[in-house]
Amino acid sequence: MNTITLKPAKDKSLARRHPWVYANAIEHVDGKPAPGATVVVRARDGRFLARAAYSPQSQIRARVWSFDEAEPVDHAFFKRRVQRAIAHREAMIRDTGATRLIFGEADGLPGLIVDYYVADDASKRGQLVCQFMATGVEAWKEAIVAALVAATGCPNVYERSDVSIRQKEGLEQITGVLAGDPPPETLIANECGVRYHVDVKNGHKTGFYVDQRDNRVLVAQYARERDVLNCFCYTGGFSLAALKGGARRVVSIDSSGEALALAQQNVLANGFDPERAQWLDADAFKTLRRLHDEGERFDLIVLDPPKFAPSREHVDRAARAYKDINLTGFKLLRPGGLLFTYSCSGAIDADLFQKIVAGAAADAKVDARILKRLGAGVDHPLLTAFPEGEYLKGLLLQIA
Ligand code: SAH
Repeated sequence: MNTITLKPAKDKSLARRHPWVYANAIEHVDGKPAPGATVVVRARDGRFLARAAYSPQSQIRARVWSFDEAEPVDHAFFKRRVQRAIAHREAMIRDTGATRLIFGEADGLPGLIVDYYVADDASKRGQLVCQFMATGVEAWKEAIVAALVAATGCPNVYERSDVSIRQKEGLEQITGVLAGDPPPETLIANECGVRYHVDVKNGHKTGFYVDQRDNRVLVAQYARERDVLNCFCYTGGFSLAALKGGARRVVSIDSSGEALALAQQNVLANGFDPERAQWLDADAFKTLRRLHDEGERFDLIVLDPPKFAPSREHVDRAARAYKDINLTGFKLLRPGGLLFTYSCSGAIDADLFQKIVAGAAADAKVDARILKRLGAGVDHPLLTAFPEGEYLKGLLLQIA
C-alpha cells in the first residue's frame, strides 16, 4: 500500500481542504509509488487525510483527488468528476462557443485544464483542448479523455501540454491528437455574438483566452462611440468586442504578427468595417509612449499583458512593468475615460496589483476611481480552500 505520512502538525492545510502536499510536510513514504500513482495521505497518528496523486520530482509532492476515505480513485471517479464539472457549467454558461470545462483544482482534477470550442456553422465540428500539467492527470489521461468524449459527445480531443510547468513534474512537453480528427485550420468559436478564429495547434494556451469572456462582454457594453485602444490584443479578443459594441475606432497593439493576422481575419469574419480597426505590430511599452507623445487620446483602454511575473522572484521587475504601462495608459485617457487593466501573474495578488495601479495613477497625476473589480469568468471558479487558483485579476477604472 503506497502511503505518505505527514510530519506532526503538517496536516493543517489538508484539514482546511487545501489540495496540495508539499515535500517538506512529508515524514516518510511507504511503498514504491510511481509518478502519478495514487497514495493514501495519513497524519502522523495514522488518521486518513486524503487520496492523492504522487509526484516524486515536484515540490508539490502530492495533489489530492479526494478527502473522502470511501471514494476510490478509478475510472468511475474520473467519469464522475468530468460529468460534475460539465453539469455545473451547463446552468451558468450560455451564448458561447468557448468554455473552460475543467479548471484544475477547482473541479477536483488538479493539474488539468480543458477548454471546449463548440461546433459552429463554419467549422461544423467541436473541439476539446486539454493541458495535462501534473503526473496524476497524466497517468489517468486515457480515462479522462474517454470521460470527456462521453460527457460532451464531442469526439475530437487535442492535447496542448506544451507548458514549461511540466518540467517540474518530470514530464516532457507534448502536443497532439488524443481522440478523433486533428483540429481544422479554421476553427471558429462564436462567443456572445462575435466570431473568433481559434488556432488550437499554434495559438497561445488552448488557442484562445477563454478566461476573458465576461470582460470582453463588459468592454462591448461601454464601447459605443468611443475611441478604443487595446494593448496586447493577441487575436483581437477585446478589439472585436469593442467593434461589436459600436466603438468609433479601435487601435490594437501586439508584437505577434501571426496573432494580428488572425485578428484581421476576425474583423472580416464578423463583417465589421476594417477602416474602424487599426493594427500595430509593435512593442507595447514603446508604442504607448509614442502615442502619448504624438498627442493621441482615447476614451477606453484595455491593458491585458502576458504574465510579467512567472514566479515570485520576478515580482519586483513585473511590478515596474505593470506600473509603466498603467502610467502611460492613464495619461492616454481623455477625462472620464475608462481603463480596463489586468494581471494574469499568480505571484501578484489582487492587493498588490491595486497598489501598483494606484501608484501609476498618482504618477500620472489623475484621480482614478475603481468602478469594478474584475476576474476570470464563472467557468474559472475559485476554490475557497485554494486561493492560488486566482491568477487573473483586473480593475475597471474611470479617471475624473
Ligand atoms: N487580451 C488578449 C490576450 C493577451 S495575451 C485576449 O483577450 O485574447 C498577451 C499578448 O501580449 C500576446 O498576444 C503577446 O503576443 C503580446 N505581447 C507580449 N509582449 C508584448 C510586447 N512587449 N508588446 C506588444 N505585445 C506583446
